Amino acid sequence: MRLGVMGGTFDPIHVGHLVAASEAGFLLGLDEVIFVPTGQPWQKGHRQVTAASHRLTMCLRATADNPRFAVSRVDVDRPGPTYTVDTLRDLAAAHPGAHLAFITGADALRGILTWRDADEVLRRAQLVGVTRPGHVLVDPGVGADRVTLIDVPALAISSTDIRDRVRRGAPIDYLVPAEVAEYITEQGLYQPDAGGGVAAGLGAAIEAPAGVGVAVNHPSGRGDSAG
Ligand code: NAP
Repeated sequence: MRLGVMGGTFDPIHVGHLVAASEAGFLLGLDEVIFVPTGQPWQKGHRQVTAASHRLTMCLRATADNPRFAVSRVDVDRPGPTYTVDTLRDLAAAHPGAHLAFITGADALRGILTWRDADEVLRRAQLVGVTRPGHVLVDPGVGADRVTLIDVPALAISSTDIRDRVRRGAPIDYLVPAEVAEYITEQGLYQPDAGGGVAAGLGAAIEAPAGVGVAVNHPSGRGDSAG
């Protein structure tokens, strides 16, 4: 079993992420790509990250129609900050013997050597950085052969831009799946006075809204015991 582990904040998930996962799946011969939205931090720089329940729900909605995509809530359910080593340990325990490819933005991989238990991260997973064409990867210091880079033109779309567009009232049609756009509107996310933050704390944040309170969205019906 070859599994992609698509780690990200996904605030919100957009078409670029979906194309990146699909392309990585194709190029690396993956059986499945599991989207793993981060839990903490609630605050990133000067920005409050949207509650995990909303980010998780948007991932579930965005991936529901693809049998090769799944969503895991291991990072959302684990208390404390999200460390990739924990993500990989949990998913390895849930999928014994699977080859894991950790896929994320090439920029995010830059700091890999400073990540908790970086050696173990490198042992446990193949690292895949997805990036838009022309992006130059700053050497993360782990050797070029340890990181696979994949150019994804659709990654011109960014979550930052989507949040900004919603705030300005600009359309996000075709930049995110329709189900995600509807959810953003229904929940009033990314408005200047949006209540999608984390004031209620993680306990409230991990209660996914009715109908999506499952640990993992897997169209084949196979559960993810780590979820
Ligand atoms: P980030 O800094 O918010 O994102 C950096 C850049 O990468 C942004 O341009 C972002 O675009 C893009 N990006 C992020 N995830 C992506 C994905 N899956 N596919 C394509 N592009 C992606 O990154 P982050 O979300 O905090 O972290 C990414 C992953 O690395 C998470 O799984 C996180 O847990 C892990 N991480 C681990 C450690 C650690 O273990 N110490 C430290 C840092 C990060 P968008 O905003 O459009 O997504």
